[in-house]
Amino acid sequence: MSRIVRKYGGSSLRQPEQIKLVAKHIADLKKEGNDVVVVVSAMAATTDEFISLANTLHPNPPKREMDMLLSVGERISCSLLAMALDAEGVKAVSYTGSQVGIITDTAHGEAHIVDVRPVRLLEALENDQVVVVAGFQGVSIHKEITTLGRGGSDLTAIALAKAIGAERCELMKDVDGMFTADPHIVEQAQLLSEIDYETAQRMARGGSSVLQSEAARLAGEQQVPLRIGRTTTDKVGTIITNRPYGCPTIVGIARRDGLKLTRQDVEPENAYKLERLIHSDGTWLCWEVSASKEEGIYSGLTIVQARENTPGLHRCVTVTLFDANIPVAGIVSAGAELWLAVPRDQADEAVRVLHAAFLEKGWLARKNEE
Ligand code: ASP
Ligand code: MG
Repeated sequence: MSRIVRKYGGSSLRQPEQIKLVAKHIADLKKEGNDVVVVVSAMAATTDEFISLANTLHPNPPKREMDMLLSVGERISCSLLAMALDAEGVKAVSYTGSQVGIITDTAHGEAHIVDVRPVRLLEALENDQVVVVAGFQGVSIHKEITTLGRGGSDLTAIALAKAIGAERCELMKDVDGMFTADPHIVEQAQLLSEIDYETAQRMARGGSSVLQSEAARLAGEQQVPLRIGRTTTDKVGTIITNRPYGCPTIVGIARRDGLKLTRQDVEPENAYKLERLIHSDGTWLCWEVSASKEEGIYSGLTIVQARENTPGLHRCVTVTLFDANIPVAGIVSAGAELWLAVPRDQADEAVRVLHAAFLEKGWLARKNEE
């Protein structure tokens, strides 16, 4: 009998029908004789809707109140899933982050987990119940409700998996796993079937939306074996452990949208000290993720390499984008990563042409080569 923590993202819980389907999958996992903890995100779009709602009432809502509001999204989905499990004949109980002892610091909106005291969760498992936990939230050392940053349900799952000594933590999404590029954009994108924590973290930091980057870091630090899979299949997906990833030359391309670029006066010899800088025509540009659509007209692409300085990579990137008529707003190499910024409305095309060029050079894993 194993202990498994399984997390479902909001897009897997969009409609009551999907919640019922998730309950069936969980019922099967339980019937196989496992101890099961389920962590849920808010139903799709709920968090964004709450944020818009708050912004209609206040230009800059107090962070404490935002956390009170946003934490509700996950409470809705965990209670509904517990009901759906009960309807399936599975004994289940839902808990908030606070109730399962997720203790955080006081940084509202981006709190860090400082301790996990899963007393009630373990009691419920003892009673043979499936435990459904509201992700993305905890309670601060000052007893206030906090949230863990966007996408933070992944973090909840990993922290709980560690705290209860789970055999593995599974993150169920609306894609098959982590890919060499976003499979919705690049048809040739290849599933990364087994990667190490460090590689997963570099893809996540670059913007691969399938895994929150803080969650990837925590999984590595705590050595929690991870699996990312699709909710509606039982294909294995991506396994993330500490076994080094033997990829060819380039792991993949990750992308982050809505960047704003501003000029920075930096001595070139100090530039490497600053994250978020890219180089353009002799000046340094600082990028930040912008809240407003008008400002955030760039996308950042991170090309994650297996090792530093792939010979010919810089040239291949600039020539490929030049041939595709895509202007490069800035580019910089940072260890085993190459960062570049392009206009957001050309970012899909940029990822496609770069992915194709890397495939042609034999730098990326190919489809059907598994
Ligand atoms: N519901 C939160 C968000 O949308 C947390 C999560 O999805 O993990 O960011
Ligand atoms: Mg999410």
